[in-house]
Amino acid sequence: MKYADSVLDLIGNTPLVRLNSVAEGVQATVLAKLEYLNPGGSVKDRIAAALVDSAEKSGRLRPGGTIVEPTSGNTGVGLAMVAQARGYGMVCVTPDKVGEEKRDTLRAYGARVALVSSSVPPESEESYYGVSDALAREIEGGFKPDQFNNPAAPQAHYETTGPEIWRDTEGKITHLVAGAGTGGTVTGTGRYLKEVSADREGGPVTVIVADPEGSVYSGGSGKPYFVEGVGEDMWPANYDTEVPDEVHAVTDAEAFEMTRRLAKEEGLLVGGSSGMAVAGALKAAKTLPADAVVVVILPDSGRGYLGKVFNDEWMAERGFPVERGESLPRVPGLIATGAEDGGTPREAEAAARDSLRAAAAGSVSVPSAATVGEALDAAESAGRGGVVVGPEALPAALGEMRAVLAADDLRRALLAGTAERGTLLAEALADAVLDGAPVLVGTGQGPRVLAERLGENGVVALAEDGRVLGAVTSAEALPALRA
Ligand code: PMP
Repeated sequence: MKYADSVLDLIGNTPLVRLNSVAEGVQATVLAKLEYLNPGGSVKDRIAAALVDSAEKSGRLRPGGTIVEPTSGNTGVGLAMVAQARGYGMVCVTPDKVGEEKRDTLRAYGARVALVSSSVPPESEESYYGVSDALAREIEGGFKPDQFNNPAAPQAHYETTGPEIWRDTEGKITHLVAGAGTGGTVTGTGRYLKEVSADREGGPVTVIVADPEGSVYSGGSGKPYFVEGVGEDMWPANYDTEVPDEVHAVTDAEAFEMTRRLAKEEGLLVGGSSGMAVAGALKAAKTLPADAVVVVILPDSGRGYLGKVFNDEWMAERGFPVERGESLPRVPGLIATGAEDGGTPREAEAAARDSLRAAAAGSVSVPSAATVGEALDAAESAGRGGVVVGPEALPAALGEMRAVLAADDLRRALLAGTAERGTLLAEALADAVLDGAPVLVGTGQGPRVLAERLGENGVVALAEDGRVLGAVTSAEALPALRA
């Protein structure tokens, strides 16, 4: 009989598949390593068992103990699977930008889930690093594997991912492309592949990191972006800067477009970090010869992102382009043909985008620490009806925006005496207002949606490609609505 003793024995040995449609025009062979076929659904299964093994050996994890880890989900699933099999408790600390589906998944595996804010600096005790440290201390028998610094994580990739790729490409791989979160994957896999190919006639394997624009690895300052699980706002020990030969920045828009194409054109339903890695790999592969073999690691499945990158409304509100499918013929019994919520017809879309952009032109922002008077002055001297709170300048990453405020609301607060000019915005406004999600309209959504949202709110934030262009009120929107 052919069977595994435990689901843990099914980790690794994931297949390579050639990319065809998305790699059109590329001479090199581009192969995707499908890590979502691991039993927990991601590349992180590989490190989970390794982290627990090393902690048991060193005595840092004892029988009946509890594993506490900051994780965007995938490491949590891997660790929860191992915890289950070996009788440990599991607590996952997750940033709030992580999708609810991922948290439900962790709970399904029996983990307890703690939630922390994504917009807290990494050195703060309220960051997900800080909170996980505190929980590991407070919980009896608590142990933090620390995937960011624990050498057992890259070692797992050195021992499994790297050798699998070398074996399956029969030593022909020329380029490895991977995203880096903790850095474990690229450090371990890349290190192995470089070592094993060091004396090869064609030279060693070139290691390329594909990185979200804004992340420190590609020279950013840690500004927020939407792709999950990759990029960093600090330098973890498990990211060995000696391993990557090149680092390429990939925008959210490029990553998400490729993520959707992989599902539609290659039958690969994968997450945004996979789309980002493939976008980076194809940029690198464009200039490579026909005998080059590029292997790109696809870390997880798209199932965890159905409410985000695969949700048209979520994408459109953030100003990411959404390709519309053809509508179905009207036949009796059909409730929806797919054309009802199409927004703006394709041919009118470019003009609609331009008019919405024009409505946001001249928008201004104030920092979160500004006073009511400063915010009002900023709006008035720019001749605008509102301000964006948070970013230093516009346009900015949507994640930097804390709120959009209408100047009229600020004036009313002054008149009513509920605020003075010197009152901090954060104090003047209920927390719900400053921290509540501003109403978003993507430039591709067109004037109809803009009018609808402005009917319900005094001011909305206009977004394009995951960036905020400005705050727009009805008066500013009028020319766009008339166009
Ligand atoms: N993609 C996703 C979806 C992830 O969760 C992670 C892990 N943070 C990565 C990529 C990056 O892997 P690593 O931490 O090994 O760099």
